[in-house]
Amino acid sequence: MTARIIDGKALAEKVREEIAQRAAELTAQGVQPCLAVILVGEDPASAVYVRNKVAGCEKAGFRSLKFTYPVDVAPEVVFAKIAELNADATVHGILVQLPLPKQFDADKVLEAISPEKDVDGFHAENFGLLLQGRKSFYPCTPWGVMKMLDSEGVQLKRMEAVVIGRSNIVGKPMAVMLLSRGATVTVCHSQTKDLAFHTKRADLVVAAVGRAKFLTGDMIKPGAVVVDVGINRDADGKLCGDVDFDTARDVASLLTPVPGGVGPMTITMLLANTVESAQRVLEAKQQ
Ligand code: NAD
Repeated sequence: MTARIIDGKALAEKVREEIAQRAAELTAQGVQPCLAVILVGEDPASAVYVRNKVAGCEKAGFRSLKFTYPVDVAPEVVFAKIAELNADATVHGILVQLPLPKQFDADKVLEAISPEKDVDGFHAENFGLLLQGRKSFYPCTPWGVMKMLDSEGVQLKRMEAVVIGRSNIVGKPMAVMLLSRGATVTVCHSQTKDLAFHTKRADLVVAAVGRAKFLTGDMIKPGAVVVDVGINRDADGKLCGDVDFDTARDVASLLTPVPGGVGPMTITMLLANTVESAQRVLEAKQQ
């Protein structure tokens, strides 16, 4: 079997066109979607992510604000900026780029963002709502994965799904989203005794580990759907995922590539959350 490859880039472009359309409609009604991004320090990967987020906003017709601080900035300065942005009615989304330098308690920073503007979906209140199956801002990466699965018509009901990774930003919310859609979900992690035992019987595997080419074809059930969230560099410095693409494609039925898979969907869903936040503001105004 040769897997069909899910083109995340093409899907992201399509969804972004819809978002730009919604943004234009909101702007015409006096509410231009606006995302504020806070970047602390000079981590090169973070700088690239922020640049892409700002560019994504501008292309979709959003207003975009960017605040950068030196690596040794006092946490109070950042907390004051978050408070100011929380109070600014023209700002619909606030994002603090992670990781933060060591003087910060990241949980406290994320919780300082108003849940109504938490377009990353990392605030404990939004995560709690997600767990309860209620409306919230969904974390962008797992939500992007759901969009990719839906775009391919993958029927999640009754599926055996295995999520590898239990982080708050990918693995855990991914498991909850799959569960809410009727999959039977197993979450594997660094302490799992026999990972291959689980992955070999899974109809769907989502790999969010952070280890280059970790999930190999022999660990995958023939015909399974395989989603690769990982962003790593291989021994030659080339970008690659957590899935060993060359061996996995001979076994899986559907597979996401790296690059060009989940990555482009993540920023897309950030834009979707921001436009949704602006929509909620407009609706509140109209009531
Ligand atoms: P993380 O380091 O917070 O979590 C990694 C998880 O992998 C942990 O829960 C750990 O228990 C598990 N793990 C580690 N070793 C394992 C092993 N041997 N067997 C089974 N599980 C193991 O990472 P994260 O933030 O969840 O990100 C995971 C990967 O996804 C990274 O490569 C990251 O760069 C990537 N990522 C991509 C996007 C995107 O937009 N595509 C977004 C976020 C993260």
